[in-house]
Amino acid sequence: MTQTSFELKARDGRARLGVISTPRGEIRTPAFMPVGTAATVKGMLPESVRATGADILLGNTYHLMLRPGAERIARLGGLHRFMNWERPILTDSGGFQVMSLSGLRKLTEEGVKFSSHIDGSKHMLSPERSMEIQKLLGSDIVMAFDECPALPADRKRIAESMRLSMRWAQRSRDAFGDRPGHMLFGIMQGGLERDLREESAEALRGIGFDGYAIGGLAVGEGQEAMFDCLDYAPELLPEDRPRYLMGVGKPDDIVGAVKRGVDMMDCVLPSRSGRTGQAFTRHGVVNIKNARHADDPRPLDEACSCPACSGYSRAYLHHVYRSGEMISGMLLTWHNLHYFQQIMQGMRTAIAEGRFEAWEADFHAQRAEGDIAPL
Ligand SMILES: [Zn+2]
Repeated sequence: MTQTSFELKARDGRARLGVISTPRGEIRTPAFMPVGTAATVKGMLPESVRATGADILLGNTYHLMLRPGAERIARLGGLHRFMNWERPILTDSGGFQVMSLSGLRKLTEEGVKFSSHIDGSKHMLSPERSMEIQKLLGSDIVMAFDECPALPADRKRIAESMRLSMRWAQRSRDAFGDRPGHMLFGIMQGGLERDLREESAEALRGIGFDGYAIGGLAVGEGQEAMFDCLDYAPELLPEDRPRYLMGVGKPDDIVGAVKRGVDMMDCVLPSRSGRTGQAFTRHGVVNIKNARHADDPRPLDEACSCPACSGYSRAYLHHVYRSGEMISGMLLTWHNLHYFQQIMQGMRTAIAEGRFEAWEADFHAQRAEGDIAPL
């Protein structure tokens, strides 16, 4: 079986439970994808990432094309072999990061010319080149090449950018071709303008994709504005295809998105925060650098089964953070990724059992309690 598929298994309100099947394994949805920017989830071995419950990782086209280079990764057997992760990988198109990270850049109908943020070398990304790079990497879920205006942007700029992205979506579809076993996702744009979102969704449906992403959110608009958009945006997309909200988010963003019909998400937050001494727990955020933990023999979360919580005290985690020891970022990243996957598993079970609303109420109630009292 070399084909891919998406099966919706249950629905509870607008929340959806499903499975994406690929030749490299199944992806249970709602799914959270840890980010492996430079062919690694920082501080984690691939088998450790898998042990947290992740079915799929995200890789960044922009970073990998610059270093070590897509052609080099292809010569070395592709991204899965290169990074020793044999399960599914989704790669972004490079469009967002080239606009946010690169130096001098020139945007034309053809694509984006830019200079590397690493060494200033000159590069070009277009729909055709992005499809080529993602094929060289061997990614299982390929993202269409799009453009996202820097915010704040006025309505005219958002509309022009969205229409350019829709022309690029068609070129991405054409360049992707027929690749059994691989999926191509289109990306809806349109900012917070409902009619532009509708126009974008209509254009994407006309082209036809294996899945659909909601782009241009989680870029500083705030949770309320994002949820307002998610109150209608997912349902503009085909019912029978996975819906991916890019770059989200904090635990309560994730829960709110799933409640509104989103199936997939990714974010650097659990890994990045783990390296800066922040832990996400059932009771909210814990800053392990805080002096209150220095003598505390209790685990971060007594109900968590991750290695950081089952083997170490808050006092130890505080000590290794303050000492700048590598194990600090390793343990907190593991805990955070584990917690995010626990949220996803909790939602999947709740949707299957038709009790998402009760699960969500409990999720918020536990957070409202706050961290355990200091000793
Ligand atoms: Zn833990």
